[in-house]
Amino acid sequence: MGMYKTEVLVIGGGLAGLTAAISSASNLSGTMIVTKTLVGGANTTSVAAGIISGVTDFKDPGDSRELHYRDTISGGHMVNDEALVRTMVNDFSKYLDRLLDLGLELEGGDEPRRLFIPGHSKPRSYLIKGKCHSLQSLLRRVCEGLGVVFMERTLITSLIKDGERVVGAVGIRADNREVVGIKANSIVLATGGSGELYPHTLMPLGSSGYGVSLGFRAGAELVDMEFVQFYPTMIAEEGLPKLFVDYAPLLKFGADILDGDGRSIFKKHGVAEPHKLTRDQFSIIMAKEMTGGRPLFLDCTSIKDEDLLGNPSLSSAVRDLESKNVPVRARRVKVAPYAHFFMGGLRADPNGMTNVEGLFAAGEAMGGVHGANRIGGNALAACLVFGFRAGLAASLHSGTVNEADDKLLKDPASKLVETINSDGGEEASRIKGIVQKNMWEGVGILREKVGLEKALSRFNSLREVKVSSNTPMEKLLIPMMLDNAEAVALSAMIREESRGAHFRADFPETRDEWRKRIVLKLQEGECKVSFI
Ligand SMILES: Cc1cc2nc3c(=O)[nH]c(=O)nc-3n(C[C@H](O)[C@H](O)[C@H](O)COP(=O)(O)OP(=O)(O)OC[C@H]3O[C@@H](n4cnc5c(N)ncnc54)[C@H](O)[C@@H]3O)c2cc1C
Repeated sequence: MGMYKTEVLVIGGGLAGLTAAISSASNLSGTMIVTKTLVGGANTTSVAAGIISGVTDFKDPGDSRELHYRDTISGGHMVNDEALVRTMVNDFSKYLDRLLDLGLELEGGDEPRRLFIPGHSKPRSYLIKGKCHSLQSLLRRVCEGLGVVFMERTLITSLIKDGERVVGAVGIRADNREVVGIKANSIVLATGGSGELYPHTLMPLGSSGYGVSLGFRAGAELVDMEFVQFYPTMIAEEGLPKLFVDYAPLLKFGADILDGDGRSIFKKHGVAEPHKLTRDQFSIIMAKEMTGGRPLFLDCTSIKDEDLLGNPSLSSAVRDLESKNVPVRARRVKVAPYAHFFMGGLRADPNGMTNVEGLFAAGEAMGGVHGANRIGGNALAACLVFGFRAGLAASLHSGTVNEADDKLLKDPASKLVETINSDGGEEASRIKGIVQKNMWEGVGILREKVGLEKALSRFNSLREVKVSSNTPMEKLLIPMMLDNAEAVALSAMIREESRGAHFRADFPETRDEWRKRIVLKLQEGECKVSFI
């Protein structure tokens, strides 16, 4: 058993975790990042298209922070946390400048190219040069320079509290199966989204994002958990790579989505400008069309070489697919919506502070910024702003508290050793499969009471099952996966309306009385529900 200590512990090594660590380490010495992947090789940040949206000081004629605020709230169907949105739009430029000072490059150099992304009323999205790979490597180096300690390939399984405040975490290292206890005065959860709840997701393998469960078990409030974004156009054809299609430029230049009989789904649904559809609207149309297993196809065959000239967004969308052997202009290609992003997560204030003393959240693990639907490029913007802010707040908090007693970590660490060593039970991979099937069928794009009830009851019965696996990490992830799955299904069951990405077939209308947010909190072993 290994015991470690630090002032600030950041759990997660993606954009939110890296920015939090830089911010904390710039303020004090004693910051550690622990991640189950590699620092700077994180789950969702690694696959991000690198689009980051916000109003900057590089000539945005006619645009304003106020407009970005309004677009975000309107894209979120009026249930966003307004204070978080205000902070994101106001601070974006400041923190982007900080990244540029550290060496970030945007496409277009000194005159960065601005893209138009659906949901934004102005072209205010920038493309990170080299996508997020280069950014993550850069930020990793900055962290190293600031003396941030890395503990990689380590899964955190629970947070430890002393009374009302968090004082550390326990987990297991993948390489030598060593159980570790890490004492910390402040903890930032930057654990990303939980794509692995669904069998079909754009998020990379291992996107468990169970910081939501870690926080929940420590008494932190969860918010907006019912809102899961599905990205409408993922290549879903046997033999072709699973890639996501940047649909807006393609649809703007004549591409279409066709059903099995070759009919345009946009015509059927009366959509005049499909390239302006936000992801929630588009996915819901697709899911309705796909009921009963009917396939849908992307048809780009009308796009010619000459259309690409002078149209960088179109040309990059087409070339991106063709360079990866998707014959997108030669024939129709099967597409389907896949789980993409979690709008819900830990409830936190603009400094990332949760209701639990010493516990902070940032990035996709934090709920509330995006409301019922996220508009493009706002996820990286939120990681950037709230990562920096949470890291600073965590470091300031660290200076105000006394170090906890080592004894507090010893018992939970011993219990973890026992759990790892216990034999027998159902194979973790089988349980994971059952959770994913129920999430897809009952808690997917189109939801209704009966499917939600079935999923919830299945999750409940899985709680009783003893889990086994040759890999301790797989085994330990199951209870966290069930926490996240239940939180999404329960919130989806409670919200008896349709709003943004949450579509209830039995309540298809948006209802005024539901312009409120669902908060879940664990109290005395029970999940309590409240509304804000
Ligand atoms: C295909 C795709 C493309 C996207 N493109 C864009 C885009 O262009 N623009 C945009 O704004 N958004 C985009 N997004 C969304 C955006 O990429 C993510 O929201 C963002 O990168 C999340 O970053 P993060 O730091 O919060 O989490 P992540 O990058 O997912 O990092 C999570 C970290 O937490 C660690 N972790 C999790 N649980 C534990 C645990 N229990 N113990 C230890 N470590 C743990 C992981 O190992 C990882 O290091 C895209 C998403 C996808 C799936």
